[in-house]
Amino acid sequence: MSLYGINKWNTTDNTTFEVTNYELECLRKSAIVHKNARKHLQQILAKSPEISYTEICETVEHKVNELFQSLELIGETLQLRSLGTNKKKGMGFPVGISANHVAAHDSANIGDKRKLSKNDIVKIDFGTHYDGYIIDSAFSVYFDNKFDNLAEATHEATMSTIKMVGPDTYISELSENIKEVIESYEVEIDGVTYPVKPVKNLGGHNIKQNTIHGGSLILCHPSTDPSYKNQRIEENTIYAIETFASTGKGFIVEDYNLESNHFMASDFNSQPKLVFDISKKALQYVKKERGTLPFASRWAYANLSNSKTMAGLNELANKNIIKRYPPLVDVKGSYTSQYEHTIYVSDKSVENLSVSDDY
Ligand code: MN
Ligand code: MN
Repeated sequence: MSLYGINKWNTTDNTTFEVTNYELECLRKSAIVHKNARKHLQQILAKSPEISYTEICETVEHKVNELFQSLELIGETLQLRSLGTNKKKGMGFPVGISANHVAAHDSANIGDKRKLSKNDIVKIDFGTHYDGYIIDSAFSVYFDNKFDNLAEATHEATMSTIKMVGPDTYISELSENIKEVIESYEVEIDGVTYPVKPVKNLGGHNIKQNTIHGGSLILCHPSTDPSYKNQRIEENTIYAIETFASTGKGFIVEDYNLESNHFMASDFNSQPKLVFDISKKALQYVKKERGTLPFASRWAYANLSNSKTMAGLNELANKNIIKRYPPLVDVKGSYTSQYEHTIYVSDKSVENLSVSDDY
């Protein structure tokens, strides 16, 4: 939990982060990979909603790796400089697949058999990174045009908010815009008309190297916390601008009845005694392959090839060495949508790094 409700990822890193040409080049390469990988997935989804969560994850992950490889083949690689992780490029965080009332942080579990259905609205939210410089971008997928207005509410909110951003912009004004745009919509789903609500306790954030949530929040609704009024966008910074809309309460909670599949290191320095051997192996995986980048339980399982992987992750989470990020849900029966882009704010302009002709 953060000051303003549920922060999507906790952060412990308060080091200053200045964007240089090198960092921008890394981000632009991550962005090329993100755009092409999501287009590949979109083409598959356009054929049929009959696809499993596992297939969606594997499709994106394979494509991301392949695209980073081909950048290398055409000589587009940079001399990777500062290495926070041994994995120098690849997935920035797990492939989010969050259906209907689930707004964020669901994905394929280990051995997941769930499939999409034609009545779902699904938020696909994944990250690519090059030397820890992360592109965080998300879109909503659905197979029935009854969801058009719900999706359009967040698409318009995200795009119009990006247009307002500049150095020194008050973050509360961005939140006010998100709220107003989303509340200007209503949506009729299966004969019921719903006002569309912004999800109050979700929003965008700044991004630092190897740190998906840099500490600043841009909520979908102005916070009542007095300090929120004084916060401004800082120049020479990377932000993810993301908006969420809902036909439910417009307020999300962590759902621990659903299996957690998103994890991230929380404290590598704490050294509690680990009971299971698999926990020690899982910790080695996290340190070596992910560092402070989020990871999926599936990835740890694939790396360790051990059926007890989940027990290892659970021990690490219970001892606060890593943290679970369970699915974030509005009320059952509601529907949510999301759009997100990663932008670079310089002293004189804003570059939308992840925008393309799809969204
Ligand atoms: Mn995201
Ligand atoms: Mn984000």
